[in-house]
Amino acid sequence: MQKHCAACGMPLTKKEDFAQGDENSNFCLYCANADGSVKSCDEIFEGGVQFFMSQLGGERSMAEKITRKNMSGLPYWQDKNCEILKGETATDEEFAEAMRKLS
Ligand SMILES: [Zn+2]
Repeated sequence: MQKHCAACGMPLTKKEDFAQGDENSNFCLYCANADGSVKSCDEIFEGGVQFFMSQLGGERSMAEKITRKNMSGLPYWQDKNCEILKGETATDEEFAEAMRKLS
């Protein structure tokens, strides 16, 4: 079964995608620190913004909205009360459009 990173939703398809190369991990290499701990919400949010800007181009504000929509939908963040996720989010249409451009 396809696994996804609990913190950012990235597909975990090969061993190198996992934090510390551990296929039992629920996190990707980008969301974990060298010691295996999971990065902060702010760090993972910024990583997402950079990713979407590099993939989609365009405005940072839109990349932030897409990232917020993506992370807000993940169970991992539901009880974290993360300030940065409380701003403006992309609409379902904007998010679907972004996902279409990625593939
Ligand atoms: Zn991740």
